[in-house]
Amino acid sequence: MSAENCPCGSGKKYDDCCRPLHQSERLPETAEALMRSRYSAYVLQKIDYIVETTVPAQQHLLNRADLAAWSRETRWLGLEVLRHIPKIGKHHAQVEFCARFAEGGEVCEHHELSAFVQADGRWYFIDPTVPLPTMKQPCICGSGKKFKACCGGLLG
Ligand SMILES: [Zn+2]
Ligand SMILES: [Zn+2]
Repeated sequence: MSAENCPCGSGKKYDDCCRPLHQSERLPETAEALMRSRYSAYVLQKIDYIVETTVPAQQHLLNRADLAAWSRETRWLGLEVLRHIPKIGKHHAQVEFCARFAEGGEVCEHHELSAFVQADGRWYFIDPTVPLPTMKQPCICGSGKKFKACCGGLLG
């Protein structure tokens, strides 16, 4: 599908959009690019990419089999990025998006304000659905700050 339009809906070809990210040829430069490439990774069932782009401390909490089954059984209908806040403090960003998919013959919309953190020069997704530290524990991103004063502050 290399010459096809990218599933992330950017309007670019997959080759010029998410493919180089999926193949680790380059890193996403913004949280929005990371968010888009994670959506297209779900569409293309690239579960390794989903895992690798989650904050390293959370990766072992992800259920690969569930992610694979979900990405395979879902009919993805499209992504719309509604808002990108590229810089919150020094190392954070947020992306608000709406993903549409069909499940059991019904069209569903998943609307989310996702949080991202930059660690070692790389953007990572912060997964709010896995067990998180308490607000006083050290942050998952390795900043050395308390969770509350760092990534936890972005999760509502
Ligand atoms: Zn793309
Ligand atoms: Zn943090």
